[in-house]
Amino acid sequence: MSIEVTGLNKKFGDFVALDDVNVTIPTGQLTALLGPSGGGKSTLLRIIAGLEKGDTGTVNIEGVNATNLPAQKRNVGFVFQHYAVFKHMTVAKNVAFGLEIRKRPKDEIAHRVDELLKLVHLSQFAHRLPSQLSGGQRQRMALARALAVEPSVLLLDEPFGALDAKVRKELRDWLRRLHDDVHVTTVFVTHDQEEAMEVADEIVVINEGRVEQVGTPDQLYDEPANDFVMSFLGEVTHLGGVSLRPHDIDLETQPLLAGAVEGSVSRMVRIGFEVRLHVLTVDGDEVSVIITRTHARSLGLEEGSTVYLTPAAGATVIPRMAAVG
Ligand code: ATP
Repeated sequence: MSIEVTGLNKKFGDFVALDDVNVTIPTGQLTALLGPSGGGKSTLLRIIAGLEKGDTGTVNIEGVNATNLPAQKRNVGFVFQHYAVFKHMTVAKNVAFGLEIRKRPKDEIAHRVDELLKLVHLSQFAHRLPSQLSGGQRQRMALARALAVEPSVLLLDEPFGALDAKVRKELRDWLRRLHDDVHVTTVFVTHDQEEAMEVADEIVVINEGRVEQVGTPDQLYDEPANDFVMSFLGEVTHLGGVSLRPHDIDLETQPLLAGAVEGSVSRMVRIGFEVRLHVLTVDGDEVSVIITRTHARSLGLEEGSTVYLTPAAGATVIPRMAAVG
């Protein structure tokens, strides 16, 4: 295992930022720390990096107890949202920087910089200044710079957070491909569930300083540990005391299934191939249901129709928590 965090606690004054965090991050994978703003993701990443110290607990990196090691001795590379580039140095010089301070031979540096610029598709911009690059290109340069010294772990704190949606999407596809090429253990912070689901091999869901669940995107989506994880990773609705996904509900116009809950369609919205319905049940629940357009048409649904709802066979269903509406 590449990174093992055990019994980690961190307070800022009276505020508990991390509460007994235990996480194991496997070697060679792309792991996302996912959760709402203020949940403690960056604090955890900074403690792994050695930029911040936990109050109690240990951090092991590649089998070495790194808890008290300074950042520069941990062999980690980082990229932050607003990366501090050297503005007066060319792209190539920025990438070479870490190797130059380690006094590597000149031709080795030149070769490595060439290789890295190819990897991040910036070869043609080697002699530009960072100010002459787009935001997305600058972040790719930052990644090349972090990779230059061959870190055993790469830590990314919302690396694409400041970019527009289209560039973000391109960069996340690119990061996935880059990772498939270089396989360096990578941990990235995001509050965007779609980004985490698309890019990560494994996701650590963090909320209010605690780890809610660790798993693959499929595990978290299909077997959420609790209501929080379920609602953070996708749409959730409530039917008869359980939480489930709106597309995991069987909807009929006749009471065909035992235990079906009767309701009436209060709103119908067509979006592309799907139809989103709000159903007001006789129990007083307002349930969201998503069905295909074809299905809606075959049932002849309209606002005011009487319908019967049951959780679909194989649906992910968890007991509804009182606190979450
Ligand atoms: P975001 O997605 O908004 O960056 P996050 O999950 O990364 O959120 P952290 O940055 O880890 O959250 O912060 C966790 C909590 O700790 C926040 O409430 C934040 O205000 C607090 N915090 C972080 N750093 C400090 C600090 N140096 N001093 C005091 N409080 C801090």
